[in-house]
Amino acid sequence: MDDRQFRTAMGKFATGVTVIATDVDGDVHGMTANAFMSVSLSPKLVVISIGHKARILEKIKQSKSFSVNILAADQQELSIIFAGQIKGHREVLFDRLDDKPVLAGAVAQMACEVSAEYLEGDHTLFIGKVTDIQLTDADPLIFYSGRYRALSNENPVTI
Ligand code: FAD
Repeated sequence: MDDRQFRTAMGKFATGVTVIATDVDGDVHGMTANAFMSVSLSPKLVVISIGHKARILEKIKQSKSFSVNILAADQQELSIIFAGQIKGHREVLFDRLDDKPVLAGAVAQMACEVSAEYLEGDHTLFIGKVTDIQLTDADPLIFYSGRYRALSNENPVTI
């Protein structure tokens, strides 16, 4: 099994797209991520997975907090910006939720405090205790097989 086959297989798992954001001394840094899931209901915990080369890694270790912003279907540009796939700096304004930087218009904004971190291979898993949530009624952005998609009601699966 080579790296490409592993990546291709993982890409077959359709996900939403998030921007993880953190704030160190008033300096906000964001990063696009789809390695996100819910961990526990009581207490309310989520997990994110950050690559060892990502600049946000040290920032989250310092701030011990982050936000998760689940992007809406019309926020693909934000995903591209925070994946570093657009040349040059783009000004992005952040709102605040429980003092964490969050993106307006996201389907869900979650404010989190780091409750644990685990180094696993070339990524670090951060467990976040969710301290506040804000929801917006909008369709999510979807990522599948390396491409952005939108939800479609054209062929709904009936159970
Ligand atoms: P940088 O490369 O320094 O920042 C990323 C970009 O965000 C830069 O262009 C920077 O200018 C911009 N930026 C940062 N803060 C601000 C701000 N305040 N205002 C305006 N612009 C700003 N990597 C993972 O580790 N885990 C994942 O789960 C993951 N999932 C991904 C899912 C998708 C769909 C994609 C496209 C990429 C994913 N990546 C993931 C890769 C990751 O997004 C990139 O490698 C990213 O560039 C690494 O971020 P960095 O912290 O090194 O930040």
